Amino acid sequence: MEKVDVIIVGGGLAGLSCAYELADSGMTVLVLERGDFSGSKNVTGGRLYLRPILPYLPDIWKEAPFERHVVKEIFTAMGKHNSTTFEFYSDRFKEEPYPSYTILRAKFDRWFAELVSEKGSFVIPQKTVDDLIKENGKVIGVKSGDEEIGADCVVAADGILSFLSEKAGLRKPFQPKHFALGFKEVIQLDPKTIEDRFRVAEGEGAAQLFFGALTQGMMGGGFLYTNKDSLSLGLVIGLHALNSKATREEVYKLLDRFKERPEIKNIIRGGETVEYSAHLITEGGIYNMPKLYTDGMLMVGDAAGLGLNMLFTVRGMEYAIVSGVLAARTIKEAKAKNDFSASSLAKYEKLLNESFILKEMHTFKNTLAVLENERLFTKYPQVISDLFEKVMWVDENPKEEIYKTKIAELKKQFFNLETLKDWWQFRKI
Ligand SMILES: Cc1cc2nc3c(=O)[nH]c(=O)nc-3n(C[C@H](O)[C@H](O)[C@H](O)COP(=O)(O)OP(=O)(O)OC[C@H]3O[C@@H](n4cnc5c(N)ncnc54)[C@H](O)[C@@H]3O)c2cc1C
Repeated sequence: MEKVDVIIVGGGLAGLSCAYELADSGMTVLVLERGDFSGSKNVTGGRLYLRPILPYLPDIWKEAPFERHVVKEIFTAMGKHNSTTFEFYSDRFKEEPYPSYTILRAKFDRWFAELVSEKGSFVIPQKTVDDLIKENGKVIGVKSGDEEIGADCVVAADGILSFLSEKAGLRKPFQPKHFALGFKEVIQLDPKTIEDRFRVAEGEGAAQLFFGALTQGMMGGGFLYTNKDSLSLGLVIGLHALNSKATREEVYKLLDRFKERPEIKNIIRGGETVEYSAHLITEGGIYNMPKLYTDGMLMVGDAAGLGLNMLFTVRGMEYAIVSGVLAARTIKEAKAKNDFSASSLAKYEKLLNESFILKEMHTFKNTLAVLENERLFTKYPQVISDLFEKVMWVDENPKEEIYKTKIAELKKQFFNLETLKDWWQFRKI
């Protein structure tokens, strides 16, 4: 059997960052990617926060194919026929290094894979790993079709449904509540139109999140990110919420209906859909993490369950990149000791624990429980929007005094036992 030092299964952000960090270590590193090229099968919203990554991978971002840096955050609570939007801008979003960028994975991962190859690791596309090879319980390589390749260490970077973690016996059976389904369209528009519609300067961008009627009471929400010359528009809906709906909705219809809302229709007007994709997204947080290592194998990125829904933003890409780097550092130490046993690779978990990743995952361990509250997606966005509608509505009748009528309404809706219970829940995040 042919043997190399490290095999990384999956050429997404987690696998590529691991390969990049290992590339100048003198080890032979293979990245096996089932897609036609890195990025061809990868889906994100998506926004990448740069600052968490810089301490781990400081040097490579100047040439990165980022879309726009985000200077504006927009939140929209959608009622059935109305909506309320809150917009936040800060000069700090314009300070370099820019805190976050929108990206398109087909471009971004492809660029990263080229960088990895230039530095000396091998990225091999159209290569699907079908199985692990084990000897006395230790992972010693992988099978791809008829081919067997041995390695001192295998890194499972094969994404959210990681079958390698299952083969290695590192994770519990999946449950629908640990996943959401994300689906999105990339809608092409010229850059000037995007800048005018979002009121941002050249090169600047916006990130908009939606919750409420668009998901028809199901746990989830919508997102809209501005790219250079396109918009990424999509929905994320909890799998268990989709499954439990009496009449199962074909999800693309939800997106079609979302696009018909005037709030969206006027933003995408004149645009052409050039890409459609769907992918699972992790919702389980810290409770859904598999064991992260075994003899001869480590898990990184989505495969390791490293992802978080923080309500106001989704995190996964920084976790993928930084976990890849930390896995590489662990492998370098293991190589120096020539010890790839589980006890040697346990260093990886220690590094993850010390990093922002597991600290954040602990801090936000209760978001899933909060998100299970249906009122977040039904009552609250509707009440907020109805209230604004009443305040703003003027007709032939004399306007009522705002405090007496509207605040009384607000009290009725928000100062009750149910809402107090909800606030009690919210304080956990
Ligand atoms: C709709 C949506 C919106 C999101 N929005 C955001 C966001 O705004 N910000 C954010 O930070 N995160 C976001 N995420 C999460 C983020 O995209 C993921 O956390 C991130 O892509 C994980 O990277 P990864 O490298 O671990 O996995 P992936 O990118 O999934 O890469 C896994 C790779 O492994 C390959 N592979 C799988 N099996 C095999 C095999 N057997 N053999 C060979 N190759 C294999 C796949 O082809 C793929 O290239 C979003 C996710 C979705 C779905």
